[in-house]
Amino acid sequence: MRRLILLSLLLSGTAMAQDRPAISVETLKTVTQTLGSDEYEGRAPTTPAEDKTVAYIIDRFQKAGLKPGNKGSWTQDVPMVEITATDVRPFTVSGKGAPITLDYRRDMVVGTYRVTPRIDLKNSEMVFVGYGITAPEKGWDDYAGVDVRGKTVVILVNDADWQTMGRDGPFEGRAMTWYGRWPYKFENAAKHGAAAALIVHQTEPAAYPWAVVQSSWTGPQLELDEPGDHMDQAQVIGWLQEPAAQRILAAAGRDLATLTKAAQVKGFRAVPLGLTLSGGFSNTIRRQASKNVIGVLPGTTTLGDYVLYSAHWDHLGRCDAVDGDDICNGALDNASGVAGLVALAEAQAKAGPAKRSIAFLAVTAEESGLLGSGYYAQHPVFPLSRTVGGVNMDGLNVTGRSRDFVLVGKGKSEIEDMVVPLVKAQGRYIGEEAHPERGGYYRSDHFSFAKLGVPMLDGGSGEDKVVGGKAAGRAASDDYVAHRYHKPADEYDPNWDWTGAVEDLTVYYQLGRKLAEHPGLWPNWYPTAEFRGIRDMSRKNAQ
Ligand SMILES: [Zn+2]
Repeated sequence: MRRLILLSLLLSGTAMAQDRPAISVETLKTVTQTLGSDEYEGRAPTTPAEDKTVAYIIDRFQKAGLKPGNKGSWTQDVPMVEITATDVRPFTVSGKGAPITLDYRRDMVVGTYRVTPRIDLKNSEMVFVGYGITAPEKGWDDYAGVDVRGKTVVILVNDADWQTMGRDGPFEGRAMTWYGRWPYKFENAAKHGAAAALIVHQTEPAAYPWAVVQSSWTGPQLELDEPGDHMDQAQVIGWLQEPAAQRILAAAGRDLATLTKAAQVKGFRAVPLGLTLSGGFSNTIRRQASKNVIGVLPGTTTLGDYVLYSAHWDHLGRCDAVDGDDICNGALDNASGVAGLVALAEAQAKAGPAKRSIAFLAVTAEESGLLGSGYYAQHPVFPLSRTVGGVNMDGLNVTGRSRDFVLVGKGKSEIEDMVVPLVKAQGRYIGEEAHPERGGYYRSDHFSFAKLGVPMLDGGSGEDKVVGGKAAGRAASDDYVAHRYHKPADEYDPNWDWTGAVEDLTVYYQLGRKLAEHPGLWPNWYPTAEFRGIRDMSRKNAQ
């Protein structure tokens, strides 16, 4: 509590110049339009479009007045390996009745983390493992009493209580936890020795339609190039479209709804299906480094401390064509976030150096599973123990001002206490997340830093629009998810309204400035947050 009072005193004493940042709408438009244009081909990492993108960001950082952030260099190499599944034959489910054929893309998508030229799965026994969660602290283990080594596990998407309204439940009720995210599910299946792990896609708990699974999981897949070639992972990872999963379960004499109900109860036991899965594919393997771009505004007195702003520069590149257009431009996702990063760099540089340094990080391969930020967090250019905290941007508000500002994954860190007065000063209020079940906090790059203890804000305009209220906000966000998210239609629109983005960027600017001008400030995670322990340890070791 004491600390909160101190914070609000500091916040009320802000100098005028710091209050009114020079956020340039011109910059927001130009950067978004440029990086979102067809010339940048959707910014897939390790393609020629990457070189262009990286060069453009460096140029903008330089012109903004930043210095190269990585020992005289603007970039950090991120070693990656690209695996493209080729020659994917239909998979076959056999055992009871006539075999079921699973067509690639229509019924399922498959791939692998393993860096190996050939994957073959032969008669692998199928087991339904509910939500595929092992959470000892909650006394929950979907793998209890079953040996899945060499077997194929079929897993439900999200976590066991996502249908509960409110936050009560073993997995924070409606809110999605880390246990609900697909990277966790594949990781946990591999830990248990599964040969294949297939997640059943359902649009509502997944938060996106099958078309998104199709476009994201087919074509070249990137991962970090690490010793061991990921051979400790399952041979096959993938997704089943819901009707295909229903056919499989029906063949086993089961049905999805009943199994789902059973899986939502603590003490659920995995269900062997009496079926086997066979199939295979070849992989084309390409090793190549991608790049994070790092600029810095060096501090004046405490320059070994860093305030961090981040946004991913990558998107999906060439993707499934819609009406002859096969470039997933990613104008909103996340050319707009990079534009925000550049606009903040300009504004902070214009205000002059602060006491602490301010770092600007444009990371690669977010769309492939937070790879660029994950690599940075493992190999930080600036020590994480001296990284005070910061803001990540993934998709700015381009639909005009919102009355509310949403803290994604609210209840995590003291950064939130610093943001609240800044939002209120704009005459706005802190709104509730519209879709806590989507697990937003675990879905972009701030999570890579949070996992290693750095408190990062994921927040911005909510759906309560100044013009049109919640109905207008909801309609706009539903329309984006249904028609543009991860599709060729995510293109720059000259009619976008940036006024809401400017308000959000003003909050990010003021938060960063406050942290940078007060070297005594070390906002921590709340005691209940999952990342508190690691932060305390890292800060202790640094002192
Ligand atoms: Zn994104």
